[in-house]
Amino acid sequence: MKAEIITVGTEILLGDILNTNCRYLSRELAAMGIEMYYQITVGDNEERLLKTLEESLNRSDIVICTGGLGPTEDDITKEVCAKYFGYELELHKPSLDAMIERFKHMNRVPTKNNEKQAYFPKEAYILKNDNGTAPGCIMEKEGKMIVVLPGPPREMESMFENYVKPYLSKLTDDVIESEVLRIIGVGESKVENDILDIIDSQTNPTIATYAKGYECTLRITAKAKSVEEAKELIKPMSDEMKRRFGQSLYATGETSIEEVVSKMLVENNLKIAVAESCTGGMVSASLINYPGISSVFMEGCVTYSNEAKMKSLGVKKETLDVYGAVSDKCAKEMASGVAARYNTNIGIATTGIAGPDGGTDEKPVGLVYFGIYINGKVISKKYVFNGDRQGVRERATRTILNDLRLELLNMEK
Ligand code: ATP
Ligand code: MG
Repeated sequence: MKAEIITVGTEILLGDILNTNCRYLSRELAAMGIEMYYQITVGDNEERLLKTLEESLNRSDIVICTGGLGPTEDDITKEVCAKYFGYELELHKPSLDAMIERFKHMNRVPTKNNEKQAYFPKEAYILKNDNGTAPGCIMEKEGKMIVVLPGPPREMESMFENYVKPYLSKLTDDVIESEVLRIIGVGESKVENDILDIIDSQTNPTIATYAKGYECTLRITAKAKSVEEAKELIKPMSDEMKRRFGQSLYATGETSIEEVVSKMLVENNLKIAVAESCTGGMVSASLINYPGISSVFMEGCVTYSNEAKMKSLGVKKETLDVYGAVSDKCAKEMASGVAARYNTNIGIATTGIAGPDGGTDEKPVGLVYFGIYINGKVISKKYVFNGDRQGVRERATRTILNDLRLELLNMEK
């Protein structure tokens, strides 16, 4: 089955909005094993939309349109799609009733314009909108299908997930299963490069990489007659990825680096304290995102000034005078110092230059030192991160959490 996405809207063409609908649908279709070779954006214009539908449906079996389901004159997607198949629109009473009901809740009555949103071809399969006024629909003719979805992402995504996906999966007996593997500390291009041999020869299962935040995700997708069979297809490839990426592969499925490291701390009952300079609380906040952390998280301090580093953490004046606050020596003293305050097993610390100002040749913007103290032993790590101020701080946060994870993994038990 081949599909194409047509995102409708002059706003997208002008760059006023980011085309996140296209990205969402691309991922969903890929995960369902539906092939896609074209994605198109077209303005709110009848002639050009008709032409685009014509071209797309000549090449593909399914076209998914988003946008242009609103109540106004320039919202024309559904009307043009119906016209393309030669279908007439008529009032769909259940949709109108649902709309009146929805407006009643808001203490309003629908305008005449709104009623347009309850008109559909009688041949269409109606898709309920659980988050808005305009229902979507699926129209089919002679083996070709057009799925019409609203523009607002919240409405579009829930409609796709709850009504379109089940409809599309009924078209085939195949089951699609995916496994997501999470890699950290290796850039997406390097990940892709390391599996090029597999990407080039993939059939079933398929594998795809995508960068997410500061991490890289691998998605292995298999098509089979049953879930068990699909899982059996995925297993050898997943094992091979674990072999290739070793400890950089930190988890499978829906999770995050902070969740993984927090779990390790809680499971091993390792008490932790955090001292942060350039990350300004982000490391503590990330750990505290994990609901069970209270049993091990003792304290997070933002020791931004030299004075705070000395007063709260016992960093030596001499260290600051001779090596500066952004130095491996300072990072180590911060980590040991914060651990000593509460007698924790672990103390971690960040100190760096987040920019945009303050960099020198010797200490450029993005330079960050970490201190990691674990049960009496303290190490430091040095990085130079790219990005703006926020980017440097976020990268530093994810990286120190990962470094802590690696230290814990390799710790002598
Ligand atoms: P409305 O009833 O709000 O007019 P609609 O179905 O007619 O909805 P559009 O008018 O095309 O949809 O877009 C409405 C809003 O939805 C846009 O202003 C934008 O915020 C969002 N939107 C539309 N298309 C996309 C897209 N492709 N990606 C992300 N957001 C989108
Ligand atoms: Mg609109």
